[in-house]
Amino acid sequence: MKTPEQYIASLRKLNLEVYLLGERVKDPVDHPMIRPSLNSVAMTFQLAQENEYKNLMTTSSHLSGKIVNRFTAIHQSAQDLVNKVKMQRLLGQKTASCFQRCVGMDGMNALYSTTFETDKKYKTNYHSRFKDFLQRIQEEDLVVDGAMTDVKGDRNLRPFQQADPDLYLRVVERKKDGIMVRGAKAHQTGMLNSHEVIVMPTLALREEEKDYAVSFAAPTDTPGLFFIYGRQSCDTRKLEGSSIDVGNHQYGGHEVLAIFDNVFVPWARVFLCGETDSVGALVERFAGYHRQSYGGCKVGVGDVLIGAASLAADFNGTAKASPIVDKIIEMVHLNETLYSCGLACSSEGHPTTAGNYEIDMLLANVCKQNVTRFPYEIARLAEDVAGGLMVTMPSEKDLRHERTGPYIQKYLKGVAAIPTEHRMRILRLIENITLGTAAVGYRTESMHGAGPPQAQRIMIRRQADLDFKKNLARNIAGIE
Ligand code: SF4
Ligand code: FE
Repeated sequence: MKTPEQYIASLRKLNLEVYLLGERVKDPVDHPMIRPSLNSVAMTFQLAQENEYKNLMTTSSHLSGKIVNRFTAIHQSAQDLVNKVKMQRLLGQKTASCFQRCVGMDGMNALYSTTFETDKKYKTNYHSRFKDFLQRIQEEDLVVDGAMTDVKGDRNLRPFQQADPDLYLRVVERKKDGIMVRGAKAHQTGMLNSHEVIVMPTLALREEEKDYAVSFAAPTDTPGLFFIYGRQSCDTRKLEGSSIDVGNHQYGGHEVLAIFDNVFVPWARVFLCGETDSVGALVERFAGYHRQSYGGCKVGVGDVLIGAASLAADFNGTAKASPIVDKIIEMVHLNETLYSCGLACSSEGHPTTAGNYEIDMLLANVCKQNVTRFPYEIARLAEDVAGGLMVTMPSEKDLRHERTGPYIQKYLKGVAAIPTEHRMRILRLIENITLGTAAVGYRTESMHGAGPPQAQRIMIRRQADLDFKKNLARNIAGIE
């Protein structure tokens, strides 16, 4: 496995085409707006090196028997699924942000079973191709991104009905040695910190949409692939060099708009091409795994937010007031409810025909449905406990200024024993998670990441088995 240093060195070798604030970025690794997100991914390498966390962060590869980072592994048991969620909570706690490496893990686990099933049906050889790819990922401990969300154009139209056919990523040419693809993937988490990207279709497809039924892997610096960096709230604060004002100066996440402008993919990297009836299962499984993931990562970030709100109460002198105590209890209750869902869908996991383990789909969707709500309530309570100062405080520069500094020290003090700067740091951290750059991962991503609420409701309806419940009621009520 790679050390964090080796991981960062390997990213430097990539020749990524990245645009940010209207300019091509020469060196994404050291760019101050991008670097915190890289640090979050580096944590997945760092913790894998530490004895204390080896049990969660690593596992043995079912392909080679060697110890690999869990982010590159295929789940072999329900316990593996549980450990995945625990690992994600741990990383959320350590970074207070999105650590980005899960999308690839979830994509690879979904592809593992769907390539197996497609081969059985069509006598293709996607599964062995995929295993070859996976083996390299594990051996070199690479970061893989997972790209699913097409830009979609007019939502009222199918992919093939769009005025511009590229609004869903598609095969534009089939060649002897591979395929040419064109399109874009939106909201692409962690792309600039990844070595490879796995592309998957975004929705179940019809027979006439064969060109859109494509899944493949591409190196992130493959010709024709380029990235436009997504803005986050308060992002340019990272350019100011203040560790206080950004709230979390070490870690973060990022999303890009990824453009595939006639990208060539050799056949060895193609895992689905034209088999439209395999697409539904691939989309459902990837979404299911990622909905499970949120029962871990958001909980870890929630732990940091609850800790920050509790500290703010300590620093404000309100920690013992019963309404404050009750609000903190409510935050813990909501956060642990999310965790319970993440654990439940994992413990109830089952083997697929390919042998790897899949989560309980109903519980994974219930997990994510709760994630579309509870972090918002936890954030609301954190703001309530923190007080309005979290958004009205002067900057660090004013704190350091000769004329204004002493007055900020004096008048923004809470409890006498606590330095004003500590109070400012904690309030800025709350601002960061609820309104700033980390709010992308904690709030809006909780809504839309792994699919918006309605997507889970459709799955919940499908998995609900209402006939079974109706029969229960009939029996009890004495209806033949
Ligand atoms: Fe992982 Fe959570 Fe980020 Fe998705 S949102 S990549 S599950 S940390
Ligand atoms: Fe996500």
